[in-house]
Amino acid sequence: MTATASNKILIIEDEQDVVDMLQLALQKAGGFKVATAADGASGLRLAREESPALIILDLMLPKMPGLEVCKVLKSDVATRHIPIIMLTAKAEEIDRIVGLEVGADDYVTKPFSPREIVLRMKAIMRRGKGDVVEEKLTVGPITVDPARHHVAVGGKTVRLTSVEFKLLSMLMLRRGRVQARDRLLNEVWGYESLIDTRTVDTHVRRLRKKLGKAAEAIETVRGFGYRLRER
Ligand code: CA
Repeated sequence: MTATASNKILIIEDEQDVVDMLQLALQKAGGFKVATAADGASGLRLAREESPALIILDLMLPKMPGLEVCKVLKSDVATRHIPIIMLTAKAEEIDRIVGLEVGADDYVTKPFSPREIVLRMKAIMRRGKGDVVEEKLTVGPITVDPARHHVAVGGKTVRLTSVEFKLLSMLMLRRGRVQARDRLLNEVWGYESLIDTRTVDTHVRRLRKKLGKAAEAIETVRGFGYRLRER
């Protein structure tokens, strides 16, 4: 956890109707303060001044593009801990991938539902840095009990290898957030990212097979990695 116990959300977006919708959704959810910036440069300035708990960052911005804002924030010690959710348009798959590579924590594709983005935000804010798997994790029918090294789907035990177990635990612990293949490689296998990331795909395939229908919760984010759905 960082020193700031802030509940301030910074929205960096020039489209007023999107800003209004987000503000309304956050107001409804309750417990948030909101700051807004309508261009990249002032967004960057506000991020530094206000240390928000989370930033919602649109990619298409006047003055400084969203990707650039993200890159600067993630390379600055003072701001790199702040989670960033990117807003992207459907056609911008490349931007989305680059965005995740420059350190965005998640993305939401326009048009999105306000409810969805609030859920994603809460998920990100709930789980801070330095994830350690200790407590029992449950998502839908899947339960992981790290203490007993036990996995069950719908109450039935599923036997996983230790790699599959670690992989599933990581995805469960960070549910709702996209996990890059090379990050998973580093954390599950302890490899440096020079090793072929297809290793991850192979193990995810096996894991899915063992989980059966419950594996639907594991989504492939093409060209990037995997995400375990929140519900
Ligand atoms: Ca925009």
